[in-house]
Amino acid sequence: MSEVAENIKDVRRRIAEAAGRVDRDPSSVTLVAVTKTVSPQKALEAVEAGVTDLGEARTQEAKRKYEVIGNRAVWHLIGPLQTNKAKYCPGLFSLIHSLDRMELISELSRRAELAGTVVDGLLQVNISGEKQKSGCRPQDAGDILKSASSMRGVRITGLMTIPPACDDPEDSRPVFRSLMELKSDLTKIGIENVSLSIVSAGMTNDYEVAVEEGSTLVRVGTAIFGSRS
Ligand SMILES: *Cc1c(COP(=O)(O)O)cnc(C)c1O
Repeated sequence: MSEVAENIKDVRRRIAEAAGRVDRDPSSVTLVAVTKTVSPQKALEAVEAGVTDLGEARTQEAKRKYEVIGNRAVWHLIGPLQTNKAKYCPGLFSLIHSLDRMELISELSRRAELAGTVVDGLLQVNISGEKQKSGCRPQDAGDILKSASSMRGVRITGLMTIPPACDDPEDSRPVFRSLMELKSDLTKIGIENVSLSIVSAGMTNDYEVAVEEGSTLVRVGTAIFGSRS
């Protein structure tokens, strides 16, 4: 078995164990292998080892890998998206994790409509309030979702967050918990055309904690492909 395949097996086992600790079905957690800076060949190894979903941080890099791997994987955009790059997304990405402002959502919607498609996206929330971090403020999430609900080219299907970088995964737990609380509050409002079934939370350092707290999608790069140079 290749190293990548071994790593994937290990990550899957850990996801299953974390799910088991809180009586969740491990199949309710999607593993997105994060392939930013990884070669197309390595990314393909992950697909051949059974990974169905790949995550990229940049549109251009994703496009190059898409040319090699194509529809053998479902493509996720997990990195920040500039409004002027929204045009590259329809037809390439199945899920955009980094929607955090109405300007971006409406441009993406316009581009998707032009392409005759609908793009699924997550509202990225900056739970911890870190200055440099993308993501909307939690208190703005409701208003953004209400505006987004009238967009015909974008369908919001969940929430995403990135906790502050930390060594101790337990430091991420309160962030994940707040995200789940926000999800529950927003779900109660009941916004038309908006579903919050996907919770994208957890990276190499903290995905087990994220699964314990209710994440339905973990974005794992380093634990699968090794550290990025
Ligand atoms: C790079 C990246 C990841 C993967 O990080 P690892 O620590 O390597 O698992 C996950 N999510 C986002 C948004 C990223 O930019």
